[in-house]
Amino acid sequence: MSLPVLLITGASRGLGRGIALHAASQGYHVAINYAGNQTAAEETARLCREAASSSQQEFAIFQADISRSSDRQRMVVEVLSRFGRIDALVNNAGIAPRVRADLTETSEESFDEVLNINLKGPFFLTQSVVNHWLKTKQPPLLQGGFKVIFISSISAYTASVNRGEYCISKAGLAMVTQLFATRLAEQGIQVFEIRPGIMETDMTSGVKDKYDKLLAEGLVPQKRWGQPQDIGQAVEAIVSGKFPFSTGEVFNVDGGFHLQRL
Ligand code: NAP
Repeated sequence: MSLPVLLITGASRGLGRGIALHAASQGYHVAINYAGNQTAAEETARLCREAASSSQQEFAIFQADISRSSDRQRMVVEVLSRFGRIDALVNNAGIAPRVRADLTETSEESFDEVLNINLKGPFFLTQSVVNHWLKTKQPPLLQGGFKVIFISSISAYTASVNRGEYCISKAGLAMVTQLFATRLAEQGIQVFEIRPGIMETDMTSGVKDKYDKLLAEGLVPQKRWGQPQDIGQAVEAIVSGKFPFSTGEVFNVDGGFHLQRL
C-alpha cells in the first residue's frame, strides 16, 4: 500500500480513462471516479489491471457526482478508507453544454449545470482534499509533494459563442489553479493546469466531421486529434515530480493550437 494514490475524477471514459491507464502503467494506485456509467468505470479498472506494472497496485471505482457536496464528501471518505491516502488529485471530470446555444440564448439551467460540474465541483473537491493534507500532515510519497491538477481547456482563452458557459467554466478553472497554487506553495503542495486541445473522446463525437475538416485545414499545427494518452503522459510527467521548482504552471497539450500565427 505504500504506492502513491491518484484520485482521478471522470475516469470512466475519455481523457480520465487515458490518465488512469497511463498512471497504472507507471506503478500508481488509482481511484477511479465516475458519475453514472458504472460499466465504463469497471472497464477502466479492468484495463488498469491489464496495464499495471506491479501486482501490488490497486484500482477501485467511486461513484460521485462532483457537483454535489454530499457526494464529494462521501467520495473523499471512501477513497481514504480504501487506500489510506491521496497523493494527487486530478480534476478531470467535466461536461459540455447539453445544447450548443448562441450566447443570446444561453439558458440559466445550462449555465448552472456546466458551472456546477466544471468549476464549483473541482473547487470544493480540491478544498476537501487539501484540508485533509493540511490537517493530517502525512508525509508525501511523491517527489516535490502532493499535487493537484486541473484539466481545463483551450476554451479557457478561446471564445466560442455557442457554448459560452463552458468557456466561462474553463476560464474560471485557470484562476482556481492560480489561487490554490499561491495558497499552497509554502505547504509543499504543487498545483498545475493542463489545457487539452481538440481531443478524440465522447465529448467531441458529435462534432467529429466539423473538426476533421478544421484539422485538415490546419487549425492545429500538428494536424491531428489529441488522444487520451497525450493527457495521460502529461499528467504522469507532473505527478512523477519532474517539475520541482514550478507551481501554477499551465501545460498546453494541444498540438500547438495556442500558437498565434500570421
Ligand atoms: P467525456 O468523454 O464526455 O467523459 C466525461 C467524464 O466525466 C466521464 O467519465 C463522466 O462520467 C465524467 N463526469 C461527467 N459529469 C460528472 C460529474 N458530475 N461528476 C463526476 N464525473 C462526471 O469527456 P472528455 O472529453 O474525456 O473530457 C474530460 C475533461 O477534459 C473535461 O473536463 C473536458 O471539459 C476537458 N476537455 C475535453 C476536450 C475534448 O476535446 N474532449 C478538450 C479540452 C478539455 P460517466 O462516464 O459516469 O458519465
